[in-house]
Amino acid sequence: MRVTVTTAAGPAARAVDVWKVYGSGEAQVIALRGVSVDLARGRFTAIMGPSGSGKSTLMHCLAGLDNVTRGTITIGDTTVTGLGDAGLTRLRRDKVGFVFQQFNLLPTLTAEENILLPLAIAGRKPDPTWFDTVIDTVGLRDRLHHRPAQLSGGQQQRVACARALVARPEVIFADEPTGNLDSHAGADVLGFLRNSVRDHGQTIVMVTHDPVAASYADRVVFLADGQIVDELHDPDAEAVLDRLKNLDVTAVTEGAEGV
Ligand code: ADP
Repeated sequence: MRVTVTTAAGPAARAVDVWKVYGSGEAQVIALRGVSVDLARGRFTAIMGPSGSGKSTLMHCLAGLDNVTRGTITIGDTTVTGLGDAGLTRLRRDKVGFVFQQFNLLPTLTAEENILLPLAIAGRKPDPTWFDTVIDTVGLRDRLHHRPAQLSGGQQQRVACARALVARPEVIFADEPTGNLDSHAGADVLGFLRNSVRDHGQTIVMVTHDPVAASYADRVVFLADGQIVDELHDPDAEAVLDRLKNLDVTAVTEGAEGV
């Protein structure tokens, strides 16, 4: 008899003393300087910080899209930093979902085919009840047979959200998911992401530079110059904006001192 033990305890994703160095010599950039963070299961975490502070690098390292220079990343009970190419492919296929700024839908496939593609690649069958729940949640029932070019930006991003949600991954990583949307469509998408955390226990990690987008999260982690420098819980947009202004002032002051 095979017994499957699931470890629901512990964070969905964890970084321990993660360093990321690009290039070498004069061209060397230290993008992450010893980042340690636990991203709680069933929570919505936003990563914020000034441009160039290391947000995308951290997300890519957490998601197994980029390797770290030093330190450890875990997703659930998988140590990402120990995986080879095949292991990383399995991790991205089975444990993580992505929502990108540019939607990244396949233009020749319908909305429904796009949504089901990751499961098809993984050889998994969709759970029909869950598929229906996701489709109704994101309001795509009457758009399932449209191709991306026949959909608005907001609808395309809803397809991308459904594609990520339908596989019930351990973590969904969203990279500026509202960056290409008007504020109304952006609010819709953020609402779906928020509800999938609240109603279905999905874990979401989102990189954004928008304080309003971050206010949908349970927790905001602030990066500056490759380090975590602050965090907020249950934030509103004003509090996020205040902290960001502080970070910019600190960064400018530190830069001036170095001159
Ligand atoms: P953010 O997402 O906060 O804007 P990034 O993570 O994109 O910041 O970048 C952090 C730092 O690492 C920046 O100085 C950036 O120029 C540098 N960087 C990012 N990617 C690369 C790369 N592929 N090669 C060299 N430097 C990079």
